[in-house]
Amino acid sequence: MDEELQEVYDQVLRRNPGEPEFHQAVREVLESLDVVVRRHPEYHDQAILSRLVEPERQIMFRVPWVDDGGRVQVNRGYRVQFSSALGPYKGGLRFHPSVNLGIIKFLGFEQIFKNSLTGMSIGGGKGGSDFDPHGRSDGEIMRFCQSFMTELYRHVGEYTDVPAGDIGVGGREIGYLFGQYKRLSNRYESGVLTGKGVTWGGSLARTEATGYGTVIFADRMLATKGQAMEGQRVVVSGSGNVAIYAVAKAQELGAQVLTVSDSSGYVLDEAGIDLALLRQVKEVERGRVADYVERRPGARLVRGGRVWDVPCTVALPCATQNELDRRDAEALVRGGVVAVAEGANMPSTPDAVETFAEAGTLFGPGKAANAGGVATSALEMQQNASRDPWSFSQVASRLEVIMEHIHDQCAQVAEDYGRPGDYVLGANIAGFTKVADAMLAQGVV
Ligand code: GLU
Repeated sequence: MDEELQEVYDQVLRRNPGEPEFHQAVREVLESLDVVVRRHPEYHDQAILSRLVEPERQIMFRVPWVDDGGRVQVNRGYRVQFSSALGPYKGGLRFHPSVNLGIIKFLGFEQIFKNSLTGMSIGGGKGGSDFDPHGRSDGEIMRFCQSFMTELYRHVGEYTDVPAGDIGVGGREIGYLFGQYKRLSNRYESGVLTGKGVTWGGSLARTEATGYGTVIFADRMLATKGQAMEGQRVVVSGSGNVAIYAVAKAQELGAQVLTVSDSSGYVLDEAGIDLALLRQVKEVERGRVADYVERRPGARLVRGGRVWDVPCTVALPCATQNELDRRDAEALVRGGVVAVAEGANMPSTPDAVETFAEAGTLFGPGKAANAGGVATSALEMQQNASRDPWSFSQVASRLEVIMEHIHDQCAQVAEDYGRPGDYVLGANIAGFTKVADAMLAQGVV
């Protein structure tokens, strides 16, 4: 890193103590930008980087609610409005006990570049709570969401900030959040949230979009080596929304998907994951992967194991941040992996990314490979603005074009900067440049 970038990074460390994930996300982007600031001194002159690493606004609030036993519970809510250079803040809400300000800031920071790569007019933000939805009744989820929105509603809006789902926030939660926003604001403002139900303003194919997009991205990377998803042995981690539709798309393209996982371990299903059963267990029953194994002859639950130990040619980390470290990357490389595409946000540690680079593994970073979700959220906003819902195939074909464009843009920029095949560099630079140029044009704000 050049001296001025190092100064920006040191300031981030000083100003944001105890936020290792945020430091990690910033460092990775700054390391890619060395070559850019050398070509564009105006970025340093206008302190673009120092401004970009400082969120425009950070909101933290108390979320009190009453559980089914009549006890008062208190959680903390967050919304970090990181950058509005390209459009209203856009990014999901995560409800998970591991959520803290540093996690939301890393996610919000990543979101800026991801959203820029989609080519849609959306800025970057993220929010959530340390609320744990696991084992909570529908009534408790509803009361929590209502309390959360009772504060959040004053900070969001279709032209201001448009939240959506992330880990722990799906269609049910978006429904409760939307209902409360509508009640408080007395407006049917469809474009204030995305990931809505398809009968009340949601977009077809939004549910599928992140997982589908990740596999389309992997397919496009493989094509640069004269290969395709067809016939690949695929390992997927996670078993949430992203993982489920990564499995679905990989199978549709003729790949063999061997695994899914959750915090208890992973499922090894050599016959190929049974998508209908997986969806039944996860989407209908809100169960665990162990429930899948019980009903699937031939499948095995490897308790406490790591999916990365299963030999495969394509790996799709779709669970959570830092779930794949150097040891895992080495196991994947030994097992013959050709391509890794991140369905989750920052699932690979910096050492793992380095290991893939050294081994010449095709590596699609999350901010490019999983951008299909938020891109389709922007398509949902378009449909809301025009009051004109599109068919599944209209949305799915737009998604495909967007993912191919993101891939080609990253590949092209990496090539322009003399690092062909380096999608990390390509994604960071392509995402950054658009935001930086908008910031230059908009002055010191
Ligand atoms: N949470 C998703 C992401 O990480 C989607 C955000 C959205 O649709 O706004 O990109």
